[in-house]
Amino acid sequence: MKIHEYQAKELLKAYGMPVPGGILAQSPEKVVEAARTFIGRIGKACVLKAQVHSGGRGKAGGVKLAQSPEEAGRLAKDMLDMKLVTKQTGPEGKIVRKILVTEAVDVAKEYYVSVTGDNENAGLVIVLSADGGTEIEETAKVHPERIEQIPVSAIEGLKSYECVRAAKALGLSGEAAKELPGILRQMVRLYLEKDCSLIEINPLVLTKEGHLLCLDAKINFDDNALFRHPDISVLRDPMEEDPKENEAAKFGLNYIRLDGNIGCLVNGAGLAMATMDMIEHFGARPANFLDVGGSASVEKVTAAFEILLSDSHVEAILVNIFGGIMKCDVIAEGIVEAAKVVELTVPLVVRLEGTHVDEGRRILEASGLPIIQASDMADGVKKAVEAAEKARSLPEGGERA
Ligand code: GDP
Ligand code: MG
Repeated sequence: MKIHEYQAKELLKAYGMPVPGGILAQSPEKVVEAARTFIGRIGKACVLKAQVHSGGRGKAGGVKLAQSPEEAGRLAKDMLDMKLVTKQTGPEGKIVRKILVTEAVDVAKEYYVSVTGDNENAGLVIVLSADGGTEIEETAKVHPERIEQIPVSAIEGLKSYECVRAAKALGLSGEAAKELPGILRQMVRLYLEKDCSLIEINPLVLTKEGHLLCLDAKINFDDNALFRHPDISVLRDPMEEDPKENEAAKFGLNYIRLDGNIGCLVNGAGLAMATMDMIEHFGARPANFLDVGGSASVEKVTAAFEILLSDSHVEAILVNIFGGIMKCDVIAEGIVEAAKVVELTVPLVVRLEGTHVDEGRRILEASGLPIIQASDMADGVKKAVEAAEKARSLPEGGERA
């Protein structure tokens, strides 16, 4: 689960980390009021920050400096309800509904610091760079040697020499070098206590006064551990999430929307991943990841079809099922029932394998539905890709499936 920057900063603050003052506002009037608080009190400018679940806002016009409350009001009018298209949102963008107004900080230098899981050492890793800010992806690509990775034990925690190494990687000295260990320790503590999957501070800045400050914050959580963090669960913002993914979750479907054209319905996460890889191998792209799990009831399969068919990017559906505990004839019946309930507007390719496969294939055959059957996985993927290409070449309103 993702949360907004303002929520992430509240968590950081609760863990004693240095964050600039900020006020959340949802209307231009409230933004002006908040701007007045900062500009009047500190005699400085303020920053308007679009609150959407995405990074790269600065480059997309989602972070603006205002020198006066009036200017803040004008900027807020433009920013609220705007569709912010960043590198991370895709062309659909995200609607800005909230603005975080913060005091503007005099920045001497921007750093990158994050904590995430590290499968290799079965622990955590702290990632740091002295070249923080909006160009961090570029730095990682062109100068990977400027990104330092420090593995940290999840059991023993952060050690002093690891903190020294971190301060050296950032080139810190003086007060800032003394402040860094506290920040890193609290990041690790927060990460472990709240079951995070990522805490990213980019930029962590050195102020003109020589102190460290978390200017931006991104925190992601492990969905599987949310049940033990009701305080974190309430931070969910359904407006930021894909309605199709929410609908799928209601039916116990493991669904993630992607940007391709082949909708896939698969049982088991491993087979789903392999199916997606094979779709790419045959020159198309998956429209989604969808694992119906081990118990694909008619209701589940119907819900899955509805979700796939409501995605206008889907040009063909590929069902790839390995019947192990679940039997192919039961699955076939589910597919036939579901196809009766929801109108199939795109070609449907089905590959069944495993227990009772002959009976399953016979049921599909006897259904009279325009189902394209596949002999194996590669055949299924190939047929789905071809069917999608054919459907695309048909004139609007032409015969489909
Ligand atoms: P992101 O683009 O979504 O990661 O949003 P950030 O919050 O990281 O802001 C983008 C950039 O805006 C930062 O890297 C800073 O360079 C700049 N920025 C944001 N707030 C301030 C501020 O208070 N003072 C200064 N000088 N720059 C800021
Ligand atoms: Mg940032």
